[in-house]
Amino acid sequence: MHMVRLIYVSTMTDACDTEALQDILSASKKNNAERGISGVLCYDPAFFMQCLEGPRDAVNEIYSRITSDERHKNITLLEYTEVDGRLFENWTMGFLRPNILDKETLAKYTTTGRVNPHALKAEQARNFLLDLVEQQRRQSAPNM
Ligand code: FAD
Repeated sequence: MHMVRLIYVSTMTDACDTEALQDILSASKKNNAERGISGVLCYDPAFFMQCLEGPRDAVNEIYSRITSDERHKNITLLEYTEVDGRLFENWTMGFLRPNILDKETLAKYTTTGRVNPHALKAEQARNFLLDLVEQQRRQSAPNM
């Protein structure tokens, strides 16, 4: 079985409201878990960035659905590569908000204070999602 990692970014359309976000998240959790896909979905009022990791056929099928969804547009594929292991093994589809990033971390990806995800290289996109996961983990950890 070939394992792949796929990362894309897109722009949210007006068809995407809070209810739609909840629908996307619940459909993603269910469908992805059934197919052995892990990954994260990051959303900002302006954009989505998503990583899907899992069996190649399953990732291709879900990505094909995602690209015909009218709740977003301007889809840019940033990374599609065969992998030996997963970066987001424990996530069936975590939801991340970029506004949790501290200034120092944000500065790695932008000089203006606002990230332009369509301009990121594959490695930067990967690190951006890993930084978000790490900061979310730290912020939800109990204070010592
Ligand atoms: P259903 O149970 O049929 O639908 C769930 C709800 O979403 C329903 O209320 C339905 O009315 C609504 N809905 C379904 N499709 C659309 C559509 N195209 N436009 C408007 N409303 C719709 N799906 C995944 O399975 N895994 C993912 O990782 C994933 N990531 C996504 C990321 C983004 C940024 C977006 C925009 C969508 C994503 N989706 C994902 C959703 C995907 O495009 C399909 O909508 C979904 O897979 C349909 O699954 P379902 O048939 O089980 O859902």
